[in-house]
Amino acid sequence: MTRYETEVAIIGGGGAGIAAGIEACDAGATAIAFEKAPKPGGAAAISGGGCMMVGTPLQKENGIKDTPDLAFDDWMKWGGPSADEVWARYYIEHTLHDLYHWAESHGVKWIDMKPQEGNAVMRWQRTENNGLGLMTHLIDAFEKRGGEIVSNTEITEIKRDGNRVTGVKGRNAETGDQVDVDAKTVVVTTGGFNSNLDMVLEARPDLGNDRVMEGSGLGSTGSGHKMVRQIGGYLTHMDHIWFYVYATPDYRDPQQRRGLVFRQAPGYIWVNQQGKRFHNESRSGGNSASPALMAQTPRHAWAVVDTTMKANMEIADPYYRVGDKVARDKVEELLENSPFIKKSDTLEGLAKEIEVDEQTFLDTVTRYNAAFDDGLEVEPDFSKPLKLSKKFDTPPYYAVQMFPLARKNFGGIKTDLQCRVLDKHFEPIEGLYAAGEACGMAGGHINGRAGLEGTMLGPSVFSGRVAGGWAAQKVGHGDGFVGKPNRA
Ligand SMILES: Cc1cc2nc3c(=O)[nH]c(=O)nc-3n(C[C@H](O)[C@H](O)[C@H](O)COP(=O)(O)OP(=O)(O)OC[C@H]3O[C@@H](n4cnc5c(N)ncnc54)[C@H](O)[C@@H]3O)c2cc1C
Repeated sequence: MTRYETEVAIIGGGGAGIAAGIEACDAGATAIAFEKAPKPGGAAAISGGGCMMVGTPLQKENGIKDTPDLAFDDWMKWGGPSADEVWARYYIEHTLHDLYHWAESHGVKWIDMKPQEGNAVMRWQRTENNGLGLMTHLIDAFEKRGGEIVSNTEITEIKRDGNRVTGVKGRNAETGDQVDVDAKTVVVTTGGFNSNLDMVLEARPDLGNDRVMEGSGLGSTGSGHKMVRQIGGYLTHMDHIWFYVYATPDYRDPQQRRGLVFRQAPGYIWVNQQGKRFHNESRSGGNSASPALMAQTPRHAWAVVDTTMKANMEIADPYYRVGDKVARDKVEELLENSPFIKKSDTLEGLAKEIEVDEQTFLDTVTRYNAAFDDGLEVEPDFSKPLKLSKKFDTPPYYAVQMFPLARKNFGGIKTDLQCRVLDKHFEPIEGLYAAGEACGMAGGHINGRAGLEGTMLGPSVFSGRVAGGWAAQKVGHGDGFVGKPNRA
């Protein structure tokens, strides 16, 4: 048995957990982050590193005029009635100083921007070297402040005495050695549950008859939700799961549960099992493409590419990369070996391989190709802009089978604005805090049903800071998280 003692025990060393640690240390508290993986970083470290932020220097450099009010309007329209207005406003108004400049103060560089569906102006801003760049700097900052990271250690239980939390218990993932932690406050930052298909289907029983894939970081198994539920914490909006569609099963996964996201195939078309297109493929977001795919019967589609298009295809998984480069040989290996990817020298042959009606499929492709012959800028059926696309004319042709991929959790542990975990009467459980994707990114359901993108990592890191600040204050250090709103 290994024993630890700390003022703030953090469960999970990802974006929210490390931010909580930095904040707690800055306030003067001792903090240890327990991480079940061999290394900290979580989904945050494999993320695109994009954060939705408002009124930033990068926006100004790009001539973009943005205000918290404009962003808030977009947020509420996109997320719908279940978006948490108070948390959304709190986050948006703190993005400039308490995320953008704060991250910069730890060495993070914000390097570029991308348009995202639902935003009136560009606000998705990316860190150098994506999420890995962000997390490398934040982990460094935490450790420099005396914060400790205990890796390979899975926390399995939150200890309590009456209504007061007193620490955690767990075990070393390699040796099985028990771990016992006495702590004055505990911060749950275990991430989402989208790498636990059982929990996904428990939250979305309506999807039980179709293939749905696990698609978050490997550590996102919902362990924090279970521990919090066990001691009376309230879980909310658990059915708010954000799906992406451009993903295919990972045939190397022995359990056949995980999905692989494939990108950079803008010329592709998607056909359903009836051999027909059903969507403007350039709108690939969780609020446009996902509902379109979910409406098909059965709920899957085939992404069709020709050999020229295939040459740019990327797979968003470390196995398919060497550093920041695409490992083309591995992508070829996937295309040749996956039972979910079919190939043929002719379009007729491809139709047979994917078992769709041959004539319907040929009509679909011929009609799409005709738009190029006619010199159109936008194809007539779903208004897909053709600027980045080409006609299907270079065999062999490939069809990649796509199923919905559960990527991000927009519901989770309910907290107040100090990130105190609430019970079913909405009373705080003393000493227990939670932040990040375990809380649907912040508070329980900050996004609502749909997110503007960058509204996962950003709120996770921000709410981590809030939780760390208040957890430290609870044990006599600092004034809690104060921050500096954009308005100030
Ligand atoms: C591929 C990918 C790309 C993404 N890109 C973006 C993007 O560009 N922009 C954006 O806004 N969002 C993005 N996201 C989402 C974003 O990364 C997450 O929402 C965010 O990282 C959540 O932060 P977190 O700290 O709550 O969870 P995580 O960063 O996942 O950290 C949780 C940590 O807790 C650990 N843990 C879990 N249970 C235990 C336990 N019992 N004991 C100890 N440790 C435990 C996990 O191993 C993990 O390290 C992306 C997600 C993925 C998967």
